[in-house]
Amino acid sequence: MSVQETSTDANTSLSDLRELVREFVEERNWKKFHSPKNLSMALAIEAGELMEHFQWITAAESRELDDEKKAEVGEELADVLCYSLAMANEMGIEIASTLQKKMVKNRLKYPVEEILGRFGHDDPRPISKD
Ligand SMILES: [Mg+2]
Repeated sequence: MSVQETSTDANTSLSDLRELVREFVEERNWKKFHSPKNLSMALAIEAGELMEHFQWITAAESRELDDEKKAEVGEELADVLCYSLAMANEMGIEIASTLQKKMVKNRLKYPVEEILGRFGHDDPRPISKD
């Protein structure tokens, strides 16, 4: 299935999105520019553009963006995802299994019973019994 403007996350597969990005790159003959080095840099740059929307505002303000600002943030998030997918395409990385394996590692690294309500292992605050 091809991705349309009316597509939703629920009816679009990761494979559909990878193909959308692959087609875009191939149509422009940009594969020659898509080394893992270049793609990792482009991804970080887009992450920086995403962060620009939150620079100098409070955490509370960042949760209450108006629709226009939220749409702009969504576009930067899409840019980050595009480069993530392009990098996976270029390197032949299987995203679903890689993410699943990484979440298994994360669950071991941050066990719920140890981490719940804390920032991490190094969080100096005493564990709350609440
Ligand atoms: Mg951008």
